[in-house]
Amino acid sequence: MSAHPLPENRLLGHSARWAALARAFASGNIPQSLLLSGPPQIGKWTLALRYAQLLLCPSPIEDNGLPAPCGQCKVCHQVKIETFPDFKVYRPLVSSVEDERDWVIAPKMMSGSILPIHVARKFGNEAMRKPLIGPRKVMVIVQADRMNDEAQNALLKTFEEPVSGLSIFLLCDNADQLRPTIRSRCWHVPLGLASDDEITDWLQATGADATQIDQAVRTAAGRPGVAKREIERLIAAQNEEEGQPFVSRQQQAEAFLRRLEKSSPVGALGFTEEALLLGKQWWDEDQSVGTATTGKKELKKGDAKVVRSSVALFLDELASVYRARWIGNVTSSKAVRWSDGLDQIRKTRQYILRNANTNLALDVLFGHLISGQSQRLPERIAR
Ligand SMILES: [Zn+2]
Repeated sequence: MSAHPLPENRLLGHSARWAALARAFASGNIPQSLLLSGPPQIGKWTLALRYAQLLLCPSPIEDNGLPAPCGQCKVCHQVKIETFPDFKVYRPLVSSVEDERDWVIAPKMMSGSILPIHVARKFGNEAMRKPLIGPRKVMVIVQADRMNDEAQNALLKTFEEPVSGLSIFLLCDNADQLRPTIRSRCWHVPLGLASDDEITDWLQATGADATQIDQAVRTAAGRPGVAKREIERLIAAQNEEEGQPFVSRQQQAEAFLRRLEKSSPVGALGFTEEALLLGKQWWDEDQSVGTATTGKKELKKGDAKVVRSSVALFLDELASVYRARWIGNVTSSKAVRWSDGLDQIRKTRQYILRNANTNLALDVLFGHLISGQSQRLPERIAR
């Protein structure tokens, strides 16, 4: 049995909420600020991303009588990978780090992370700028309940003088952590649990058997994000028993890192080739599901955009391995090495998506990661 990755952008269990938002869009009453709240793994990000795509997509379609993003165009794709210039996402930082550089974005489980005042100010400055591409612009704060008092005050000021066309989405687990003055300025959309039936339907796409699906649905208890994680775990375990070990992307990235650690700087070239290969393989897997938001019409195989996007897929996975190492070593002297590596990977991803020479950027990146140096990337790449 083969494991199929689940289609990511599917919205589960929030159809009434989506309908209300889509109708607001259709009637031109787009909320200036939206507050999406609900327990973790319930689909807040999925809903926010889809609505952002709807607001920004130049050619929305009709789906079940409601407007929906086309999901195929360049804008929809760029929103999904967070590179669209009029779609900005802000996330909590690790509280112990004073530095403003954004590689200190905190992983979800890091409870000490906050959204400090300087992030809120940055947000406020950005909110005053007009959209660059179309008539609208979307700015998101993920885990907005991590804003401290100062940051919440600064955000209130942003609400007072919004630039025209701006929509602000706040995502949080617990809306009570936000000041009433902020809540009262938002259209509050509390999200509930998905039904077991909906999750079951969704999981059928994985090719898992009925027992596995049943088990994942029970574990999920209405949270689609948990269902996805659980079914992937069950499928991986089963394939191992059948003697064909299922190697997850995370495990492949781990193996890649272990080889990097053992390598000398002259070995960097081979890593570039391997990264390109893995990225391409993952990209193809995602496309074969058929429901990926990146349409085949827009992005043909061999297209330079495909190469860039598939390398970004690879770098995302490598970054998550680095982030895990960093968290595991956060109190030791090795922490710097992992945080620098994370920084380099993140920058390289941006350069590549902004049309830097892919092979050259990867060569330089792996050279740095191998030597563990924290030099800046050369200007010719960082353009
Ligand atoms: Zn679109």
